[in-house]
Amino acid sequence: MIITCPNCNKQFKIDNSLIPDEGRDLQCGSCNHVWFHKIEEENNEILKLNEEIFNKNIETKVEKYRRKKKTTKKK
Ligand SMILES: [Zn+2]
Repeated sequence: MIITCPNCNKQFKIDNSLIPDEGRDLQCGSCNHVWFHKIEEENNEILKLNEEIFNKNIETKVEKYRRKKKTTKKK
């Protein structure tokens, strides 16, 4: 996930497993600002939504591929 320092707005990539459900203190490597970060449930919902969209895209691609194959056989 990507977190943003509330002090200097620098963005960091951080492993989700490093932050427990109850949250933890993080320190910005750029300005040394320390703040408490908690993974919000809203973010998890967005992730799930993105996964669904991703899966749908794959299905659509497979369908298109099958259709193309059929057309090739006719020729
Ligand atoms: Zn910072």
